[in-house]
Amino acid sequence: MHIYTHPEFLNHEVAEGHAERPERLSHLLAHLQREGILSDSPLRQPNDVSDAQILAAHSLEHLQFLRSSAPSEGVVPLDPDTWMSKASMNAARLAAGAVCNAVDDVLTTTENRVFCAVRPPGHHAETGSAMGFCLLNSVAIGALHALQQPGIERVAIVDFDVHHGNGSVDICQHHPEIMVCSSFQHPYYPNRLDDLDQPNIVNTPLQAGSNGDVFRRAISSSWQPALQRHQPDLVLVSAGFDAHQADPLAALNLTEADFSWITQQIVDVANQHSQGRIVSTLEGGYDLDALAKSASAHLQAMM
Ligand SMILES: [Zn+2]
Repeated sequence: MHIYTHPEFLNHEVAEGHAERPERLSHLLAHLQREGILSDSPLRQPNDVSDAQILAAHSLEHLQFLRSSAPSEGVVPLDPDTWMSKASMNAARLAAGAVCNAVDDVLTTTENRVFCAVRPPGHHAETGSAMGFCLLNSVAIGALHALQQPGIERVAIVDFDVHHGNGSVDICQHHPEIMVCSSFQHPYYPNRLDDLDQPNIVNTPLQAGSNGDVFRRAISSSWQPALQRHQPDLVLVSAGFDAHQADPLAALNLTEADFSWITQQIVDVANQHSQGRIVSTLEGGYDLDALAKSASAHLQAMM
């Protein structure tokens, strides 16, 4: 396994006091270093994503809006949650580029597990809009890139971030070859597209206060049969760790053991249907220690 990351991800600045801050990533990488995980899973730098790859998932208006919104200094809000600084566009492009590079790696080399330690996150970004800290939907861009590759007919995006992956659903809803499975606290932000009823969209709402037992039962009864039916050639993971009980933004009560369990379920699906191929990318997670330990549990289960 290897891990894509880039110094530019730390240069994406947000408003003072914002939860989605550069320390999330620096703290996570320092923890992985201390745990010895980086000696087994070395860091690599991604390439920029192409405009064509972005435009497979997003409208030209959205790309132009992002380009014209970036400030030359300081930070500007696109909405009350979503901010841009000078480096943000480049960071978002490199985050999407990391997922596309990772897809190429698992499809064309003997490596079948890659993690993308990126920010900003992506799964709330819809076809035509940035929202929820997200500018470009890296995982959806990666899924559409994968479908362009020989031998890849179906992919799955599995999203265990505490927030619904509305952007991934929005972009992928008209692509039946992409299954999107999303578990999320409900009712809660963003409250969009979370009741869509179609075969390739699997929405798994969880009440505030739900613990790991409730989470595991819900995943086993909703994601598992759907993924068995879909038989993906590649599994992409929107790995958010804000469903952890220590997270300040939400109210689910998962622990590191639950993130290890869900990762093992994903590994089982990938080993059965996808030649073991998993590309995972970081989404949310706002308690620095919980994020670092949960992501570490996720990586160890993937390895
Ligand atoms: Zn989240």
